[in-house]
Amino acid sequence: MGGGGFDDNMGEVVFDDNEDKWYWQNDFGVDFSVKTGRREMMENTNAIMPGRLFFWNNWVIKKVNVFVWRACLNRIPTMDALQCRGVEVGSTLCPNCGMTVESADHLLVKCMVARTIWWQICRWAKIPCPTIFESVGGLLDHANASVGEKNRKTVINLIFQTMLWRIWLARND
Ligand SMILES: [Zn+2]
Repeated sequence: MGGGGFDDNMGEVVFDDNEDKWYWQNDFGVDFSVKTGRREMMENTNAIMPGRLFFWNNWVIKKVNVFVWRACLNRIPTMDALQCRGVEVGSTLCPNCGMTVESADHLLVKCMVARTIWWQICRWAKIPCPTIFESVGGLLDHANASVGEKNRKTVINLIFQTMLWRIWLARND
């Protein structure tokens, strides 16, 4: 759970007879509103946990920054979060592996499907592969700590944020 303000931030999920789609309370029908997301972020500060700040990356499109920041806080509408909110979701299992309850950390980092992607990305980006996959924030910290030079850090962060977003889009297809 994201703690205080969780209900306010989760938005509403609307079901109808047509294609399933996620709606957010703060911008109906459009996936993320950057303006409201950014404002929300400023109100909440960008601390994703004590001692850890979110790397707001200006080379990454804003809605992806907002998405990844929310994912670090488990504030994206994964099955566990929806169930916490009392939304009827049927199965709460990860749609990719069917083995574990779907959380942001599981879907985006811990799931075998996600790990396979991160192994490939790390090899391609020539950075060490994480030995432990525990959380979205931990993965980003690993990427950040693996590179010294500032511009390269920004590029690696861009690759990781974009891939987190792609995994989420693929999950919703
Ligand atoms: Zn899974």
